[in-house]
Amino acid sequence: MKTIIEPFRIKTVEPIRLSSVEERRALLRDACYNPFLLKSDDVIIDLLTDSGTSAMSAAQWSVLMAGDESYAGSPSYSRFKAAVQELMPFKHIIPTHQGRAAENILFSLIGGAGKFIPSNTHFDTTRSNVEASGATACDLVIEEGQDPACTHPFKGNMDVARLGRFLQEHEGHVPCVMTTITNNAGGGQPVSLENIAATAELAHRFNLPFFIDGCRFAENAYFIKLREAGYADRSVVDIVREMFSHADGMTMSAKKDAFANIGGWLALEDDTLAERARTRLIQIEGFPTYGGLAGRDLEAIAQGLTEIVDEDYLAYRLRTCEYIVERLIEQGVPVVLPAGGHAVFVDARAWLPHISPLQYPGQAVVAGLYELGGIRACEIGTVMFGRKTDGSEEAAPMDLVRLAMPRRVYTQSHADYIVEVFDELNQVKERLSGFRIYDEPPTLRHFTSKFERLAKAH
Ligand SMILES: *Cc1c(COP(=O)(O)O)cnc(C)c1O
Repeated sequence: MKTIIEPFRIKTVEPIRLSSVEERRALLRDACYNPFLLKSDDVIIDLLTDSGTSAMSAAQWSVLMAGDESYAGSPSYSRFKAAVQELMPFKHIIPTHQGRAAENILFSLIGGAGKFIPSNTHFDTTRSNVEASGATACDLVIEEGQDPACTHPFKGNMDVARLGRFLQEHEGHVPCVMTTITNNAGGGQPVSLENIAATAELAHRFNLPFFIDGCRFAENAYFIKLREAGYADRSVVDIVREMFSHADGMTMSAKKDAFANIGGWLALEDDTLAERARTRLIQIEGFPTYGGLAGRDLEAIAQGLTEIVDEDYLAYRLRTCEYIVERLIEQGVPVVLPAGGHAVFVDARAWLPHISPLQYPGQAVVAGLYELGGIRACEIGTVMFGRKTDGSEEAAPMDLVRLAMPRRVYTQSHADYIVEVFDELNQVKERLSGFRIYDEPPTLRHFTSKFERLAKAH
């Protein structure tokens, strides 16, 4: 069959309240044109993030009841640990309340002033935790990964030659090498197994541990199955095990590829480092058999991990973004290629050339999507990155809009609706106007800034 259906049926539903364009114009104006300030009840399709927004399965809801809330030695921890080790056979599995807590623990132990930590691209919380330790976070993704129109199959790959020069230059000051799969900040683009192996080999030649930020490991594994020579007939579980066989540990957010609404972990091979990590865990998260989580959360993650590697799910999952990207290309809407695993990225600067970067073309698209269709998306451009630490403002390298797809939440007709809203917006795009920020916090301004719409373009 050509139609890839959602490989699930629906037992529990959450109603979506439909609203009118007029109503949404007023709601967005009241939210000062910042979608983070909208109430989620007023959103029809919420594509702000794929983090913690997954729909849990009937099996996950049922194991919640089996959660054992003992402070120490809970059987829920044993089930969680076994489920992780089934896919990622690391010796030490340390639960945390989110991925960023795992990062915080890791970099508070191995980071520090004067150190350099290379990755293909650090995710923003990873970068922030590296920097909070005093170390410098460096992104060494391949050149193709920075070109939105390039269709390289593994745009998340590390530039291994550059990494080699980097490790030589900073020898003695690099505590580890990291790779993020899929490369979230780079558009959800995958990393090949060949690249993972080459990166690990290089790290090990310099006697350094190699860590994987594995938040979207299952999506990455399915991309490998689809695109990398020699993997078409291998199972996703096999590919996952091979990916992690090269690593000495991992950080993970269970809010992504574990179908959980909260949770994460730090996994390590090294006994001494694990001992220190557990001590730190007790200080900031909790006892090593629950981390920052309830026993029931550990159960939901354990069950979620058995579901995320289902290949029918992954085929449907990756097809969703690809389907929307194909329709947008037909409409002439510029998008980042190829489609990533968890999100669609629209190139707002290219789409709305009449709005200059400092008038935030991405924000104009975000506002248009909400007013016209009640879709909530996220600007990733000059609003997010334009304010420099010295207080000046300059255009970000790109003005993108991200439509992140929650897992198992929306259906084909929702995807068609998203495409239709873009089509409508495309008809009136010349009339969209830019914005001015009239109130902003000192840092991370995209979350709380207040905007004013500029006079309409002519
Ligand atoms: C979400 C994410 C994190 C952080 O995880 P949280 O659970 O949100 O703290 C780290 N790395 C990547 C690649 C992510 O997508």
